[in-house]
Amino acid sequence: MRVAVVGAGVVGLSTTVALLGQGADVVCYDRGRPMGERSVGGSRIFRLAHTDAELVDLAIRSRRMYDAWSRDAAEELIDDTETVVSGPDVSAWAAAMSAAGARHSVVGPTSPLLRLPAGEIPAQSLVDHAGGVVRAARVGAYLRSVTSSVVREATVFAVEETTGGVRVRSSTSAEVFDAAVVCAGAATSGLAAQVGIYTPPDLNHHVRFTFALRQGSERERFQCWISRSSDGLDTYQHLSGPGEWAVGAHVGRDDVRWEAGRDHATQASRRVVTGYVRRYLTAVDPQVRELLHCTTTPGLDDGYRVLRRGRVLAVYGDNLFKLAPVLGRRLAGAALDGSTPPSTGMHRTAPVGGDEPADGRG
Ligand SMILES: Cc1cc2nc3c(=O)[nH]c(=O)nc-3n(C[C@H](O)[C@H](O)[C@H](O)COP(=O)(O)OP(=O)(O)OC[C@H]3O[C@@H](n4cnc5c(N)ncnc54)[C@H](O)[C@@H]3O)c2cc1C
Repeated sequence: MRVAVVGAGVVGLSTTVALLGQGADVVCYDRGRPMGERSVGGSRIFRLAHTDAELVDLAIRSRRMYDAWSRDAAEELIDDTETVVSGPDVSAWAAAMSAAGARHSVVGPTSPLLRLPAGEIPAQSLVDHAGGVVRAARVGAYLRSVTSSVVREATVFAVEETTGGVRVRSSTSAEVFDAAVVCAGAATSGLAAQVGIYTPPDLNHHVRFTFALRQGSERERFQCWISRSSDGLDTYQHLSGPGEWAVGAHVGRDDVRWEAGRDHATQASRRVVTGYVRRYLTAVDPQVRELLHCTTTPGLDDGYRVLRRGRVLAVYGDNLFKLAPVLGRRLAGAALDGSTPPSTGMHRTAPVGGDEPADGRG
């Protein structure tokens, strides 16, 4: 079968790897540098921990695939630092971990199992022993090396159903395929709508900040940390490199909505995150060293949704890096056998207006 994959982020490249593994004839299009948009940067958090047992199970499978890719790449793609989730609803995370049979510990703030750069730790934490830092740049290098012969630098303008195929019109060609998978990140909504698949079109700005660990802490192997602080701020943070600590926060929607502009979103996020670092992270120097911009889809939580219309599949979701190997394999299988993979997770965390997707069709 000839399959087009639109987008060479971590999801598109994982799908391409799986399609190649099944013997498909694949073209993976990207309008820029592969892994250059939402998958950009050197690190992400990996965790089995989710509040939904199905997602824990998917993450277990994903971890196995990352381990297999690590062997293939001859370098570790995940650093085993563990991931900690702290806050008021730890019991929900623990219940999902238990239901999926994932190893974890629920501990208090003074537990010796915690290695965190903070002076104040919430009353309850869950330690996900299989969590850690995804070395995103290494993953990108590995995936690019496996897929280089089929990745094409071209902007896709149109995806059209024709009799007997799906035509992909790009800046370099117009070609007909047996199936197409649209995993174009922020651009998925516009492309998928051309064939009647409607995914959330709204975008938010998001900025992650990197800081230096203070002298004396720069060699610590801190755990990745997802936490709600005592003043109610949700953050995610991890060792993004030697002596480097990356922090992102869930900043108020008004400050990060698309129309507010990137500069406004950056300033507001910087204020919130540096304030948080000053207040809570005793081992971190609050001077911003580096920032990473990206877009997110408002209101999504962990998980993904796959929609089909005829020969075209489209996928969207949030926090997809950790699940990408298994999601890619599912998308590849579905492209080849005409099925639609079940959607998983995707609880909405905040009310959003007018972007509820139509259900999958076909
Ligand atoms: C700062 C930050 C922190 C994050 N933290 C985590 C984390 O800790 N854990 C986790 O699991 N996830 C995390 N995520 C989310 C995760 O990185 C993304 O969900 C994932 O990388 C999305 O991959 P993707 O392939 O769907 O999208 P993308 O990486 O955006 O890939 C889409 C690709 O499509 C291409 N494209 C778009 N339009 C066209 C077109 N018309 N023609 C051709 N090509 C096109 C783009 O160039 C792009 O390369 C984080 C993201 C960011 C930015």
